[in-house]
Amino acid sequence: PSANIGVVGLAVMGSNLARNLASREGNTVAIFNRSSDKTEHLVQAHPEAEFVPAFSYEDFADSLHKPRTAIIMVKAGKGTDAVIDALVNVFEPGDIIVDGGNALFTDTIRREKAVRETGINFVGAGISGGEEGALLGPSIMPGGSDESWVTLGPILKSIAAIAEGEPCVTHVGHDGAGHFVKMVHNGIEYADMQLIAEAYDLIRRGTGRTPAEIADVFAEWNTGELESYLIEITAEVLRQTDAATGLPLVDVILDQAGAKGTGAWTVQTALDLGVPVSGIAEAVFARSLSSHPEQRAVSRELPGPSASSGTEFGVTAQDAETFIEDVRLALYASKIVAYSQGFDEIRAGAAQYGWTIDLGAIAKIWRGGCIIRAQFLNRISDAYAQTPDLPVLLTAPYFVEALGRAQDSWRRIVSTAAAAGIPAPAFSSSLSYYDGLRAERLPAALVQGQRDFFGAHTYKRIDKEGTFHTLWSGDRTEIEAEDTH
Ligand code: NDP
Repeated sequence: PSANIGVVGLAVMGSNLARNLASREGNTVAIFNRSSDKTEHLVQAHPEAEFVPAFSYEDFADSLHKPRTAIIMVKAGKGTDAVIDALVNVFEPGDIIVDGGNALFTDTIRREKAVRETGINFVGAGISGGEEGALLGPSIMPGGSDESWVTLGPILKSIAAIAEGEPCVTHVGHDGAGHFVKMVHNGIEYADMQLIAEAYDLIRRGTGRTPAEIADVFAEWNTGELESYLIEITAEVLRQTDAATGLPLVDVILDQAGAKGTGAWTVQTALDLGVPVSGIAEAVFARSLSSHPEQRAVSRELPGPSASSGTEFGVTAQDAETFIEDVRLALYASKIVAYSQGFDEIRAGAAQYGWTIDLGAIAKIWRGGCIIRAQFLNRISDAYAQTPDLPVLLTAPYFVEALGRAQDSWRRIVSTAAAAGIPAPAFSSSLSYYDGLRAERLPAALVQGQRDFFGAHTYKRIDKEGTFHTLWSGDRTEIEAEDTH
């Protein structure tokens, strides 16, 4: 055996990851793909890389030293199960199978349990950064056992992105923890993208600036506290002109956003955990709304704000700078909410599934390689370094200051959007969440009253212990009740 690491699945992600591995000192990479043409092609196209091609699972296993370590990069779902079954047949106890695909974390929990019974280690590792990340350095979120991390850690550190001198990989937690965190990463990505899109829309419709002019605004923002990969690429996209029509590219792209499902997973899981990730949910729903042309077609004639209500939108040239600064601050505040909600989901997931997750370390490994990479993540790791069990991220001193500075702008932008009839679902739901958290009293008290009225669901009182029920259909006196929620 001559290889220390193997890759199974040589489509875009797998072949780039294999090349990344082969480019690092000390690695010899065994490669295998179900159809042999991809394996042959990779070897031929990259003579510089030290690959050991295999054309059967047996050869693949024979070419790896022990403990054998193989990363699977195949189509998530049944493909992953098929490859795991094949590898379990040819691997031995102590060997390590890593699934680097986008698996649902509950599948990873199930697979880890099944594979563990054979004595083989199974590690679900979230890998972020798309094709380019896989080739040059992704952000990697591995779960799995402590034992497998001993062998796997140095290999993954060698291929991960580097942010401020530190590799963007950490042992997230056991079994499905890595894929869980990757899922939430994607959810946050949805929210961040939606917020940026709302900011663009408001500036465009409010000030009449062209996409190229708005590209300049985003490029400027990218030099400040919003500095991030997503802001940077937004400027690039807005600046692009369509060769065929000469129009801004953004104006010829069909306005129906696609999705591969990880955002929906984040929201579904949050619903199960009872964690309000409203910013992420609005982002997922905004994509759904955009992708129903038949609904949009019949809705186009719905009445909008009347001109006589004085809400006609249009910012004068001299007010444009102020308006754009308001949008920037609204974006920043909403972004803080989205990340806070995402970290809240990770905290709740860890509690539910028994993982010990260092939230500050997660913020750090997202600083490089992945789509949501940003300076801002340092503020999050600082916040958790100061208070590791912080119940709500946005209550950390740095964010309190930022939200205090941004909130007047945020409120102006949300009300302007509402008055002008411009949808800003992620901006406005984030603000409502913020105000919900802040509230001294919530109308949840009334909801409890309603629940008690129709379902005798009982309620608690602010002034004494116990559980109570009002005899709504009787004389409406209050009785002490059993706690049935
Ligand atoms: P695809 O998701 O398109 O999957 C194609 C690969 O899966 C091929 O190598 C194919 O083999 C293999 N495959 C499918 N079914 C089986 C099976 N039953 N047995 C063996 N092999 C099978 O490849 P990508 O490179 O796009 O993605 C790989 C993984 O990485 C996916 O889980 C994806 O979600 C994840 N990912 C992708 C990102 C991206 O930007 N594309 C980013 C992050 C993660 P064959 O050639 O024989 O058909």
